[in-house]
Amino acid sequence: MRSLVSLFAPPCSPSSYFHLKSSQISHLLPVYASKSDYIAPSSLRLRALQTSTSGENEGSRAGAIHVIIGPMFAGKTTALLRRMKEESCNGRDVTIVKSNQDDRYGLDCVVSHGGVKMACWALSNLSSFASKIGADAYGKLDVIGIDEAQFFEDLYEFCRDAADHHGKTVVVAGLDGDYLRRSFGSMLDIIPLADSVTKLSAHCRLCNKRAFFTLRKTKQTKTQIVGGADIYMPVCRKHYIDGQFIKNTTNLVLKTTPKDQQFCL
Ligand SMILES: [Zn+2]
Repeated sequence: MRSLVSLFAPPCSPSSYFHLKSSQISHLLPVYASKSDYIAPSSLRLRALQTSTSGENEGSRAGAIHVIIGPMFAGKTTALLRRMKEESCNGRDVTIVKSNQDDRYGLDCVVSHGGVKMACWALSNLSSFASKIGADAYGKLDVIGIDEAQFFEDLYEFCRDAADHHGKTVVVAGLDGDYLRRSFGSMLDIIPLADSVTKLSAHCRLCNKRAFFTLRKTKQTKTQIVGGADIYMPVCRKHYIDGQFIKNTTNLVLKTTPKDQQFCL
């Protein structure tokens, strides 16, 4: 059976990542957009006759759950799309789902920050997925990819049922923590269900070291604000702490300073 690391191992990549097993530390290289990276919707429905080479779902139709976590700009979506493309090339019937809260690139595609894209279903919840695509189509599916999975409240139940009872391989990508480094949605809840967990890292925007956290640059305090580099940036531990301190201090000063004097700040 091919290992998770080899499935994710790219031909090249500076975007570093590590598997939770320290012996499997490796590095990812960036994926650049090209016509060959795009998977047309029609091809997602092709169910080739060739046998799966991943070793999963053979015989017992037992499924699997693979989880990809990390901060923003770590390459989670790129890794998910790469895995889905490889599964499709191996003749497996694949499709991808994302939250309809994420409309940064429209609702009909999942698009990585590097520009790689793939047609998808944009849903408000995962429990509606089978009925949306139809029972026959769902029954034929081998692999389900879920992007921005932290937004789905029914993530645990869906993954459990899809893998345990329906024989699906589920590849889940999402943020493990929010901008305050708190557990985000149900992402961490599915780790006990998972066959593998991969935590990716980005590069700190301030010092270029490995970044494990997402710093929100704005004053907004709502947990879920969908945005890109205009709102968020990946940072190392030092710069996360420094950044939070600066934000908190600035907010405190603004709160205690009369508005007509704030122009001096
Ligand atoms: Zn840093």
